[in-house]
Amino acid sequence: MSPLLALNKYFGYDSFRPGQAEIIDKILHKQNTLAIMPTGGGKSLCYQIPALVLPGLTLVISPLISLMKDQVDALNDNDIPAAYINSTLDYAEVSANFVKARNGQIKLLYIAPERLESPRFLASLNTLAISLIAVDEAHCISQWGHDFRPSYLSLAASISQISQTPPILALTATATNQVAQDICTRLQINSSNQIKTGFARPNLTFKVVKGQDTLSFLLKYLKNNPTQSGIIYASTRKMVEKIGTFLQEKQIAAVIYHAGLSEHVRRQNQEDFLFERANVIVATNAFGMGINKSNVRFVIHAQTPGSIEAYYQEAGRAGRDGLPSEAILLYHSQDMLTQRFFIDNSEADESYKTNQYQKIQDITHYVNTEVCLQQYIVRYFGQEIDPCGKCSNCTDERLTHDITIETQKILSCVIRMHERFGKKLVAQVLYGSKNKKIAELAFNQLSTFGIMHSMHLKDIEMLIDYLLASGYLVADSSQYPTLSVTKLGSSVLQGNHQVSQKVTQATQTTTLTDI
Ligand code: ADP
Ligand code: ZN
Repeated sequence: MSPLLALNKYFGYDSFRPGQAEIIDKILHKQNTLAIMPTGGGKSLCYQIPALVLPGLTLVISPLISLMKDQVDALNDNDIPAAYINSTLDYAEVSANFVKARNGQIKLLYIAPERLESPRFLASLNTLAISLIAVDEAHCISQWGHDFRPSYLSLAASISQISQTPPILALTATATNQVAQDICTRLQINSSNQIKTGFARPNLTFKVVKGQDTLSFLLKYLKNNPTQSGIIYASTRKMVEKIGTFLQEKQIAAVIYHAGLSEHVRRQNQEDFLFERANVIVATNAFGMGINKSNVRFVIHAQTPGSIEAYYQEAGRAGRDGLPSEAILLYHSQDMLTQRFFIDNSEADESYKTNQYQKIQDITHYVNTEVCLQQYIVRYFGQEIDPCGKCSNCTDERLTHDITIETQKILSCVIRMHERFGKKLVAQVLYGSKNKKIAELAFNQLSTFGIMHSMHLKDIEMLIDYLLASGYLVADSSQYPTLSVTKLGSSVLQGNHQVSQKVTQATQTTTLTDI
């Protein structure tokens, strides 16, 4: 059976989406391949079609145990024999599924990566005829990714012990070039076998909303969009509960979802959302992986997540049907403290933590940039596109002001503090704060001390955020990031580059002579 025929016969689709045919072709030519496609791009078919076309079994390695059953049920509904083996099954069920795999009664077998850590399980795999190994959520293999899983690390070694050498298909929605390279090295994928479809989601309108009260924003939005289905993400269970209770009190049909709820309640609430008894689900990131509700019209993040990868993956759950949908991020600077707190208290090693701190900075830049938001995200993943024309930056009609002088003040202050301090302290020096630490360090003697006193402290910090997002300043990726001036920043100090910013009110300008 040809891939196209299988697409039509089993899934009822007429044509492949971008990248699918090429990926499937590589697999059928036994090439190890890395497929990078955005959420909703159609990754699953890239291994499900080869599974149907190839003679033996396709082994699908996925970290999402809770979804295996749903995926297998969906395949069985399409008359594709599939099964899974994971810790939710008892011994007899595991054996039964294994026997089915050995007898060729199933075409796909889903397993969790931990399974491969068992030498016995590995040995038994050698009794099966395996035609393809698909590694889903392959970014979990990389320490540079945003969702590293230790059980993925030994994956490559385990796979190499399988005596047959079936091709490997690694799939992910969120890989920067660094992560992609890491996946290729670990799974022995030739870099020419990396297939990346565009990262852009043209039907999504991205918005960043700053400084608004979360609950009033949500209520207003939901009242204006009363019939549409949407997801509201928050970072903590507490916040999920707070938003959920508030919306329910306001007669909004909202349900909640987080890992602290019982399995029964979670399933119930998820189904209420899927079957549209509830329009809105308020959830932590525990919700959504593999949820295939195609008509989600909006995804609102009430709090900023810890990385652009996580944000894009979650926001990408809007508009899988290709119809216009919105992805809105509500930003409050204290959200970043929550994300820092998660990292500070994690048990990960230092280099991993450093990487996570960097990701917090990257998403903070997203929030503060004036570049097209869609363009900004795909650039982060290494792709260039034209501005989308409809995001909150593309449609920002505020006037542009020249802020070269303010920028020069900030940059020279950073330099006078020997590029050894963070945003807060730099802002305090510029503001002329009476903070004891500043006196102790004699920063109140600097010529830049107090030269921005006419601005609010918070506005100075926001200006620094903007300069970071625009590449005039850079922060290192430590727990307490220190600022330094970039090459671009130096050219501003030398008077060779003008800086501008869109502002609602004119920023207070003073002359440079007092530096
Ligand atoms: P991903 O895993 O990349 O997020 P999925 O594999 O879940 O995406 O696919 C997203 C949706 O697109 C699914 O509903 C799937 O059935 C549909 N889809 C996939 N490939 C095609 C295609 N070639 N034509 C039409 N619909 C497709
Ligand atoms: Zn745009």
